Amino acid sequence: MPLKENPDDTLDELMHTKARIEELPDDDDDEDLANEDNDDIGFSGPPFPGRHLTTSKHALPPWLQIATINLIHNDLTTATSESQQNVTAECLPLLLGKDTQGLELNSRGIPRLRRQKHAEFLHGTLGNLPAPYQVVDASRPWLFYWALAGLSFLGEDVSQYRERLIETVRPLKNLTGGFGGGHGQLSHCACSYATLLALAAVGGLDCVDRKQMWHWLGSIKQADGGFRMATGAEEDIRGAYCAMTIITLLNLPLALPPGAPARSSGLETFTDKLGAWVGSCQTYEGGIAAAPGNEAHGAYAFCALACLSILDAPQKSIPKYLDVQALLSCLAGLQTSPEGGFAGRTNKLVDACYSHWVGGCWALVEAALSGGDSAKDTTMDATTPELWSREGLTRYLLCCGQQPGKKGGMRDKPSARPDGYHTCYSLAGLSAAQNRYRYITERETIDHASGRLMAAFNWEAEKVVGKTMVFDEQDRVEFVHPVFVLPMHAVERAKAQFESATLV
Ligand SMILES: [Zn+2]
Repeated sequence: MPLKENPDDTLDELMHTKARIEELPDDDDDEDLANEDNDDIGFSGPPFPGRHLTTSKHALPPWLQIATINLIHNDLTTATSESQQNVTAECLPLLLGKDTQGLELNSRGIPRLRRQKHAEFLHGTLGNLPAPYQVVDASRPWLFYWALAGLSFLGEDVSQYRERLIETVRPLKNLTGGFGGGHGQLSHCACSYATLLALAAVGGLDCVDRKQMWHWLGSIKQADGGFRMATGAEEDIRGAYCAMTIITLLNLPLALPPGAPARSSGLETFTDKLGAWVGSCQTYEGGIAAAPGNEAHGAYAFCALACLSILDAPQKSIPKYLDVQALLSCLAGLQTSPEGGFAGRTNKLVDACYSHWVGGCWALVEAALSGGDSAKDTTMDATTPELWSREGLTRYLLCCGQQPGKKGGMRDKPSARPDGYHTCYSLAGLSAAQNRYRYITERETIDHASGRLMAAFNWEAEKVVGKTMVFDEQDRVEFVHPVFVLPMHAVERAKAQFESATLV
């Protein structure tokens, strides 16, 4: 309880606050709730700072009992709650339309997607960058990926960058295989992933030495099933997702190279023990951590789900290694109220990049929950209950995420500057909200001729339409592949390019 200047005010608040144990409801109410079917309670997510908890049983999330609700004081002022209040204060006028920032509005009175301005911004990030960007010198491939992927999501043709990109990433390639983040830097799993995806976006994957890449990935596979980010570096779930993405897009052999250290521990393939290792990253919250024992984080949830969706059909691999209900509860709790976007961790602030990292999880979770019944999804329309609020995310991105004025680009939150990272993942998240992705269960999950894992290629997309869609059709973003975070056509191109490829 915050101290008031006048002690009488504090006493008055203590005597009259609703958040008091003495005001616990009587046993009858408790019994009613205990007998209530969970489906009827309605899931509204965990209490967020600033959200007023009511004692209405229909506003309670399933894990919260009427007997304990008032034990949670949401009027405690902390640095965290003040930050939340500040963010809510900066977002609300934009969400309510009181401040339109001079942006053009759509037919629903919500800002339109600044397609042209965002494209100009992303093109600009591929040119000369100002001096402060030297701090991302070790992440150069990411800059290429964010710009080229983001432009693709806007429907821009990025093939004009093909030759330029190939020449730029050539010096980042090491003879031992893999790509570094900058000139003369060691090969790194995340940088190799970003390079691969950027090359895939422009149709430039033929410049990759697949055999060297295979050998290098063999050097980072660990005896416990996971992957290190680089030789001697940390082992975490980014490595698992990035490595499996590279292996699958390039159709590298699943067998470990002859000299791979993990072979001495009895492992024979890149997928050995991998699913179980991913599962070991699930935390007590239900979310996924970078590594076992760490804190759950939205971006790692995406890495885990996408990695498992590469290993096999999501309705098989995800429930096999993860507690899906616990994960669902955790992810749903990350959609913030009243902003509508996603936070990366429990009790953290909304941030537009999680529009993808968490927003991108839903297609994979929904596929896992479908139980392989693909017909279930095809009947979904605007009236089908959703696990998350597409409208909330769309409103956050269009109202709060767009930089107004001459510049364009998208940003973490209104008080932040736009950058390529947030622009790319905001657009990917907007696509997740505007479109639906269905796993095609009828297709094979392995190519028996080459041994390539095919599950990640078995997705199709459709537009979501209906009255909850708060954007005009011209502001719809392209389909974004739910596993590889590339335009669908770029994934199809990589799939076809290495269909019958062998290592030479
Ligand atoms: Zn962010």
